Amino acid sequence: MSESLFADASKRLANAIKYVSISEDALEHLKYPKASLNVSIPVRMDDGSLRVFQGYRVRYDDTRGPGKGGVRYHPNVSMDEVQSLAFWMTFKCALLNLPFGGAKGGIALNPKELSRQELERLSRNYIEAIADFIGPDVDILAPDVYTNATIMGWMMDQYSIIKRQICPAVVTGKPLTMGGSQGRESATAMGAYYVIKAILPRFEQLPENTTVAVQGFGNVGAIIADLLQQAGYQVVAVSDSQGGVYHEKGLDIPSIRQHKQEHKTLKGIYCQDSVCDTISGETLTNAELLALDVDVLIPAALENQITEANAAEIKAKYIFEVANGPVTSAADKILAEKGTYVFPDILVNAGGVTVSYFEWVQNRSGLYWTLAEVNQRLQEKMETETRETWAIAQDLAVSMRTAAYIHALNRLGEALDAKGTRDYYVNGLVH
Ligand code: NAD
Repeated sequence: MSESLFADASKRLANAIKYVSISEDALEHLKYPKASLNVSIPVRMDDGSLRVFQGYRVRYDDTRGPGKGGVRYHPNVSMDEVQSLAFWMTFKCALLNLPFGGAKGGIALNPKELSRQELERLSRNYIEAIADFIGPDVDILAPDVYTNATIMGWMMDQYSIIKRQICPAVVTGKPLTMGGSQGRESATAMGAYYVIKAILPRFEQLPENTTVAVQGFGNVGAIIADLLQQAGYQVVAVSDSQGGVYHEKGLDIPSIRQHKQEHKTLKGIYCQDSVCDTISGETLTNAELLALDVDVLIPAALENQITEANAAEIKAKYIFEVANGPVTSAADKILAEKGTYVFPDILVNAGGVTVSYFEWVQNRSGLYWTLAEVNQRLQEKMETETRETWAIAQDLAVSMRTAAYIHALNRLGEALDAKGTRDYYVNGLVH
């Protein structure tokens, strides 16, 4: 990569600044992460050997509340990636008006190479290493790529052992029996679904006339594919890291989810096993999926999937960024010239952190909500902020991404300025 992910992420901020009356001090503040931690995590492997993994946690900003952000297990995890993800979390939490700042963590490894016992030791040792850096009022963890509710449960348990008291609010996305929230597992996909439902009718794009391709068939991608199909959209292609499947008349998503659960991959879904008996279709690569002639493209895998190199090949009219950072800023420009509408990650995938916030509130109050209550509150939040972001985009004739940053930046600027502005200190003025 010629430019760091963080440098690219910062460009989105630069595009929004000219539309916002924010103090220079606040902007200066937002250029840098508040605190970054790099830890070495020794783990005793099943064969008796010792391996040391590199782990990270970044608290980008906590002006509006404690840091909040997931933990990623992936071979490409680096300080640059974690810092970029923490930066996006800062804007996402402000955009959704949640009382949180932005944070993120990760460990560089391929989790598929570790046994369950090794993964547990790694997760617990990561918490040992970062325990003084996190806390229910300081920095709260959550799942991300290749981490799940079980791992969140181990992390919460380890933190509670260290503190010698039960601390459910230090981690969200936990199993229900350990203080998890109803609806957390489906929250990111559900939130994205509410955004899509609020946006597409504005373009008179009805479900029955809309084809969809989803890149990444994981926690979020599989559920959004399912929700859209149930709502009448034609989901014609899905993929995972090994490749994808395509059928021009629409795929049978529940069968594919079942296959993926049993075999852990979409590879071979066509014509090597039972799914082939019920649905026909063909295989395709991830590059082919991204370039399909569909109405809606949903990148739900990793960052940097649509870049300067392939943006010109994208045929979809609408891109909803379920993954964090799937479209680079250079690709954004090419897509805008082509008339492609890109709906940004910090809005589209904010359902996850919104229900994480609900989980944190429930943990602290001790009163637990029903699934219907969670989803109703989620729908309200997603619809409100989508409507407000849309209004900014229309009023200022800017992209939805720039509008989302403007909306978030206004809230962050106000919070930062409430601590005292340059005028206050230089001229003795109180605003
Ligand atoms: P996951 O690990 O459950 O799924 C990721 C999926 O992407 C897997 O199916 C994997 O095989 C696939 N994948 C990996 N590399 C790929 C590639 N090059 N091409 C195609 N597919 C590929 O992760 P997830 O929790 O579903 O997260 C997916 C994205 O959504 C990430 O960018 C994450 O940061 C973002 N996100 C997740 C949440 C959440 O609540 N889980 C919240 C907000 C944002």
